[in-house]
Amino acid sequence: MDPIRIAVVGLGKIARDQHLPAIAGNATFSLAATVSPHDAGLDGIPHFASLDELLEQGPAIDAVSLCTPPQVRYDLATQALKRGVHVFLEKPPGATLSEVVALRDRADKIGVSLFAAWHSRFAAGVAPARAWLAERTIEKVSIVWREDVRVWHPGQAWIWEPGGLGVFDPGINALSILTHILHRPVFLTNATLSIPANRAAPIAADMHFRDTAGAEIHMDLDWRQTGPQSWDIVVETDAGTLKLSSGGAVLALPSGTEHNEDLEYPGLYARFANLIRGGRSDVDIDPLRLVADAFLRGRRVSVEPFID
Ligand code: NAP
Repeated sequence: MDPIRIAVVGLGKIARDQHLPAIAGNATFSLAATVSPHDAGLDGIPHFASLDELLEQGPAIDAVSLCTPPQVRYDLATQALKRGVHVFLEKPPGATLSEVVALRDRADKIGVSLFAAWHSRFAAGVAPARAWLAERTIEKVSIVWREDVRVWHPGQAWIWEPGGLGVFDPGINALSILTHILHRPVFLTNATLSIPANRAAPIAADMHFRDTAGAEIHMDLDWRQTGPQSWDIVVETDAGTLKLSSGGAVLALPSGTEHNEDLEYPGLYARFANLIRGGRSDVDIDPLRLVADAFLRGRRVSVEPFID
């Protein structure tokens, strides 16, 4: 079978750190082109300043990975889908729920694959955590997602703008795990969003959720953490405590702790290839919906300005 000719759009941090190596390591794909307005591209790979230019003048492509900020993703995805090109959406899949639903409907109508990728769901501990929890009664969940924005997002102006999500940019990863490992729907009961006086998006959020059986879920999300960083989810059950740490990579169960190799992006590309070959899409909007609910239902408090 011919390889899937893919273009990477948005040659920023995640494209270089994860997408390019994952594509290079998967023989189902061949990197056909790159697109980025202010980047020179890679040696030997056709490079374009815009997706328009690539679609008009470039080599033929079967798929694109959109690794841009979310605010520009809808227009790029629509351009690609209109040409029958399969689309991989980095997380979050869009800047609003409605635009992602519109993309999903368009992809379904024309029979092209659309993949809303949630990389944290592919962390090593997540699938076994989901399987273990399927047979347990959930009593309580505590999420602590605390990191230093200056280390992880230096100079990323878009992240503080409307649609950039602020601290929910990492926080949505925790929500993507939560909505995957719990077997009941989860909804927000209240939230407090701390928004720097000079920014449009929150730097911290304190959130309370419940599942439909009444289990309480608390999430402490903060970008002002210096020193040790935390990406932990603790689930108390009738059969003991489960802890996912390091963003889902490490799973501790009452029977012991499992550390496994990080295969998040190879896992995402294997899934994308399966979707394309199988003529299917995978567009789960649950994590984005919980973030939207926090903006809808949360109390906003103004906190000290954030200077990069
Ligand atoms: P980034 O470093 O700021 O990179 C974004 C890139 O998008 C920039 O290189 C920019 O290109 C390009 N871009 C902007 N508008 C474009 C357009 N209209 N057409 C083509 N390219 C465009 O951001 P990032 O950290 O890689 O994050 C990108 C997405 O990946 C976000 O949704 C983020 O949540 C997600 N993500 C990030 C990480 C991470 O660790 N950073 C992890 C997982 C997922 P120019 O520089 O050439 O202008």
